[in-house]
Amino acid sequence: ISVTDLVKESYEQISKTDDEVQAFLTLNEEEALNRAKELDEAGVDAEQFPLFGMPIGIKDNIVTKGLRTTCASQILSNLEDPLYDATVVKKLNDAESVNIGKLNMDEFAMGSSTENSSMKKTRNPWNTDYVPGGSSGGSAAAVAAGQVPFTLGSDTGGSVRQPASYCGVVGMKPTYGRVSRFGLVAFASSLDQIGPITRTVEDNARILEVISGQDEMDSTSANVDVPKYSDALTGDVKGLKIAVPKEYFREGVDEKVKESVRKALGQLEELGAEWEEVSLPHSKYAVATYYMIASSEASANLARFDGVRYGKRSENAKDMMDMFKMSRSEGFGDEVKRRIMLGTFALSSGYYDAYYKKAQQVRTLIKQDFDQIFEKYDVVIGPTAPTTAFKVGEKIDDPLTMYANDIMTIPVNLAGVPGISVPCGFHPDNNMPIGLQIIGKHFDESTVYRVAHAYE
Ligand code: GLN
Repeated sequence: ISVTDLVKESYEQISKTDDEVQAFLTLNEEEALNRAKELDEAGVDAEQFPLFGMPIGIKDNIVTKGLRTTCASQILSNLEDPLYDATVVKKLNDAESVNIGKLNMDEFAMGSSTENSSMKKTRNPWNTDYVPGGSSGGSAAAVAAGQVPFTLGSDTGGSVRQPASYCGVVGMKPTYGRVSRFGLVAFASSLDQIGPITRTVEDNARILEVISGQDEMDSTSANVDVPKYSDALTGDVKGLKIAVPKEYFREGVDEKVKESVRKALGQLEELGAEWEEVSLPHSKYAVATYYMIASSEASANLARFDGVRYGKRSENAKDMMDMFKMSRSEGFGDEVKRRIMLGTFALSSGYYDAYYKKAQQVRTLIKQDFDQIFEKYDVVIGPTAPTTAFKVGEKIDDPLTMYANDIMTIPVNLAGVPGISVPCGFHPDNNMPIGLQIIGKHFDESTVYRVAHAYE
């Protein structure tokens, strides 16, 4: 099969399914077909170019040169022609994959259902009454709908793993510092990581191999060797030690979700792994801590959207202050405004010590919970989310319930460790996919992939 055929197939599948699924915000068809032709003429060198001719989709908060990048926000809706590629995009191009287009998301990656997009509502391909999860809902739905074999998402508090779980696909949040954030529009810089969403663990490992590594354009990217993750997929988990936090099985977690995860643990046991119950005592503070830190960082990061440097400027302003205010009032949606207000308040003098500083201290405790467990165990396993996907509209008017949904993914970002979500059966009541989360030590994605692959 030629690259051109592969790319055409991708667009055909998109035109068949995307009226319903609504995963893509921008298609790159002309460019992609030109690129495919180039690759067909050049021919394959599979050793050198592991992703030769593979169609990919990119979350719309990752900058793509010359291709509209909006973060699903009105304030960037006219950013038609970005001047550079994010490092991950450059690396994927160098590996000779083909960029099919940009994917829908919650505005500025704030949300858990993709309903906060100002552009369109993405639907879960398994049942379009349900949300795909979020914020990388477009990225997960596109893979689940067979539109592209893999996509990139970003994960600040669960946004790769939770939609992967809801859409029955594989999503990895790498260790903080593993993948360059250069060209990822910043939400919460101390938490953000880009990660791959795929159908299989093997595909996922191969993509992370390509996008990982230190980058001089991102001072938080780490100088740590990138192993060949695909070499870790041996199927062997004999003697592996699994920690199972009891906090991940508390009330509020759906009984059938718990059952599926226990069944998965049983399977790993049969393969020779051992598991024990442990405690992550500070995880009950994780949601509060996260929303304090993430909103504070967001309020600072989003200050740059002022109607001058990027994106849209209000047409109706009378003077300069008015212009800043009106551009932001018109350009940001409700959820983004809520976070900016919360973050600005938490960082203001007089409140800084009580909120932001306190949250940073609790973050350290949450990280120490993991450090202690990883002295004895190789991985931590639990559900990715307390439930399966919920129905479109079900939680949109209740931000707190929406935030609580992130309870099992957020601690992973606060600790900076890697975590993957892999499909783990279906809920008998609604037939929606369930996700199993496997969490590893800092920079030990290899073991996470090994366990995920053995289970898969
Ligand atoms: N749902 C979380 C939030 O709204 C996580 C988002 C993310 O990981 N980008 O902040």
